[in-house]
Amino acid sequence: MLPEFIPNWIDGREQEAADGGRFNKLRPTNGTILYSVARSRAADIHTAVAAARRAQPAWAATPAVQRGLLLHRLVVQLEQRRDEIAQIVAAETGKSLKEALAEVGGAAQCGLFYASEGQRLYGRTTTSGTPNKYAMTVRQPIGVAGLIIAANTPIANVAWKIFPALICGNTVVLKNAEDTPGTAWFVGQLARDCGLPSGVLNIVQGYGEEAGAPLVAHPDVGVISFTGSTEVGRQIHRVAGERFCRVSLELGGKNALVVCDDADLERAARWVLLSAFSNAGQRCASASRVIVFDAVYDHFRTMLLERIARLKVGPGDDDDFGPVINERQLQKMLTAIEAACAEGARLLYGGHRLDGPEHRGGFYLAPTLLEGVDPAAEISRCELFGPITILYRVPDFAAALALANDSPYGLTAAIHTRSLHRAVHFCEQVQAGVAVVNAGTYGSEPHMPFGGLRQSGNGTREPGTEALDVYSELKDIYINIDPTQL
Ligand code: NAD
Repeated sequence: MLPEFIPNWIDGREQEAADGGRFNKLRPTNGTILYSVARSRAADIHTAVAAARRAQPAWAATPAVQRGLLLHRLVVQLEQRRDEIAQIVAAETGKSLKEALAEVGGAAQCGLFYASEGQRLYGRTTTSGTPNKYAMTVRQPIGVAGLIIAANTPIANVAWKIFPALICGNTVVLKNAEDTPGTAWFVGQLARDCGLPSGVLNIVQGYGEEAGAPLVAHPDVGVISFTGSTEVGRQIHRVAGERFCRVSLELGGKNALVVCDDADLERAARWVLLSAFSNAGQRCASASRVIVFDAVYDHFRTMLLERIARLKVGPGDDDDFGPVINERQLQKMLTAIEAACAEGARLLYGGHRLDGPEHRGGFYLAPTLLEGVDPAAEISRCELFGPITILYRVPDFAAALALANDSPYGLTAAIHTRSLHRAVHFCEQVQAGVAVVNAGTYGSEPHMPFGGLRQSGNGTREPGTEALDVYSELKDIYINIDPTQL
């Protein structure tokens, strides 16, 4: 079913890169070639932006309700072809089919929410200070939206960006993640099948520097929305900011999960494992710092180690998590673990590549647990985006909260406690975009706003209705209803 070559999808047709360049996408499970992919550069971005620009006035003139109906057709396609999509997601990422299917479900929910927004797209009608005058706001499209995404949850990441951008009347150039080319390519096919006009959704494959950077710099792109690393986000902010382009940045995290002395430790251990290791830790919301009260620390560490030893790593539905996305990421993590241990961190579990017969050639890292790490050490402060977490011992609630907040990031946080007082205090005081009580560190539901503080983003929130603020311009309209009074 999978093609041998993944082309671009520009102006309603499949296209090679202009210079014919290609790169190979490898299977994370065994390192073999999955398919070759169009290696796009500035020329392809120019073609895609021009197509999006041509298509934009007619798309903007299509009533939002009609746009919503078209997008709803795309949602139905996502649901009807969920098995095919999940197979592509699983092949590209190495995650299990079960997880991939759940991801398609999340993407469809997100799409449904925004398709329905076509019947709302509320502005505000309010009173004027002048007699005989209406005052109101309306939402208008920005123009061409340049969307750049990460590979960790490919179909969800596509949905998160394209649905809100399109419902607002923008046309889209999506620079897809180079590690998951097939998922977005398939969405292009679905968009064609459900009658989305040519040029409304354009999908460009390729590397960040070669295809992403020209999209960010393109003067005809009115809004850039980026999901990826803080390092690249900083660069994008600088370049797009230079021309006052609207920018939404959804970046990294170093998320704290606090386990208090009054926590349900069984439940807390289960959530630590899920939060730290699911999707091989490749979640911006992953619990990479586990902060535990001294009174229960030794016992909780034993509980965690027993459970980690039972984790199964592989691509099957019975496995707990799969490989990381590529060899480079794996090597980066191995280097970081080695450096941390050289500085005195204690490796409690894992820390090595899995290369037994069932993992051979794949990009598998054993679930890794560290302790004895200084909160100021590099590994405490940088995101690794893999199945690695660190235990920290604290004396009390105040120290736990202070350590949770001692981070360059501020995306998500969780606390496990039976005390209402502690839970509420934590939710109020933790410096994060999402706070969770007695569960995992996770992202938002598709109809809720997600985003973080400090280096986790630039203050925007997607998805939810808040994403409409990213993808539309608000215009004030004043109507004088008695011109003789003017
Ligand atoms: P990355 O920043 O390396 O790449 C992300 C995307 O940006 C890719 O499509 C890449 O090709 C592109 N890119 C790279 N360099 C570019 C450049 N100079 N100009 C334009 N585009 C460029 O990130 P990654 O390692 O692929 O993804 C992991 C990161 O994504 C983690 O930091 C993770 O926390 C973050 N993430 C954040 C969220 C969120 O909602 N906050 C969600 C998922 C992932």
